[in-house]
Amino acid sequence: NRQIVLAERPKGEPTQNTLKLEENAVPTAGENQMLLRTEYLSLDPYMRGRMSDAPSYAPPVEIGGVMVGGTVAEVVESKLEGFSAGDYVLSFSGWQDYAVSDGTGVTKLGKEFEHRSWALGILGMPGFTAWAGLTKIGAPKAGETIAVAAATGPVGATVGQIGKILGCRVVGIAGGPEKCEYAVKELGFDACIDHKAADFEEQLAKASPDGIDVYFENVGGKVLDAVIPLLNPNARVPLCGLVSQYNATELPEGPDRMNWLMGQILRKKIKVQGFIIFDDFGHLYPEFAKEMSAWVEEGKVKYREEVIDGLENASAAFVGLLKGENFGKRVINVGSN
Ligand code: NDP
Repeated sequence: NRQIVLAERPKGEPTQNTLKLEENAVPTAGENQMLLRTEYLSLDPYMRGRMSDAPSYAPPVEIGGVMVGGTVAEVVESKLEGFSAGDYVLSFSGWQDYAVSDGTGVTKLGKEFEHRSWALGILGMPGFTAWAGLTKIGAPKAGETIAVAAATGPVGATVGQIGKILGCRVVGIAGGPEKCEYAVKELGFDACIDHKAADFEEQLAKASPDGIDVYFENVGGKVLDAVIPLLNPNARVPLCGLVSQYNATELPEGPDRMNWLMGQILRKKIKVQGFIIFDDFGHLYPEFAKEMSAWVEEGKVKYREEVIDGLENASAAFVGLLKGENFGKRVINVGSN
């Protein structure tokens, strides 16, 4: 049983010493347990937070502990009622080949999953995050303008496509011309601006002639800086993530703009609301699942996935994800070897 464990807490970007691949015996399932074999492992930005012991909404992975993560797994053997060998499940069994489970937090994947890995993306946590954050906090009205960065990732791409379904103008922000072209041509965004372009701020302002009513915040940093002056009175900011800051070791150089920001929020009556998807919206999951699977089936929402073979490649793939090396949702095909 190959397992990737947290060897040391990273300072800044994770290095080759952060995670370690270990070989251990395959565990056996006891009474009321089942043995799961991982097929796909999801890579998500929040995992950087679990490597750190700074206070957060969830406890960190212990040093020597298996890295946490959402997985699609096959039941190899079951002594647990409701699950049988051969079933596929959505579980949280982490960065390893095999895990024993008592069924807590495990759901069976129904036959509707033509692409099982999509349960880790558009039809799972990231899709749910986009749907709930946008519709419940952003609450956009037809004709309003939505801006979203990480626009081709599983959250951002879904936010933008829901925005189009709701009749909004959607401005994406992504890293590089290829991603931007995809957001406009394939996902149907009205515009997409490359945040690496020298004149990024000007381009963003031009693409938002009526200002921005909903800024779905995924990244922070210079994208946030460029968006704030464009926010309209009564704008809503679902505060979902700040991925540009996850490897940061200190606050950026001054001047301190905290009071300027608070002044903007006050004068424009902006609503900023942080959320942690299952803590805040877990009760709405069935509603999401029904609506999103219909949209995906009807082709109204598209999904791009990047499957990387081999658990041994997970660490490098994760470091790359935080830097935008991914183009679409990154998953590891653990079952490929
Ligand atoms: P993505 O697959 O989109 O990966 C992150 C992307 O962030 C990169 O691909 C890159 O895209 C972009 N990025 C990285 N660094 C920067 C930077 N300095 N400036 C601008 N963009 C940058 O991730 P997800 O769709 O899975 O997640 C999106 C966000 O949602 C994350 O912040 C994540 O933490 C958050 N999240 C929050 C949840 C919650 O409950 N609050 C639940 C799930 C996700 P590009 O190359 O286009 O710049």
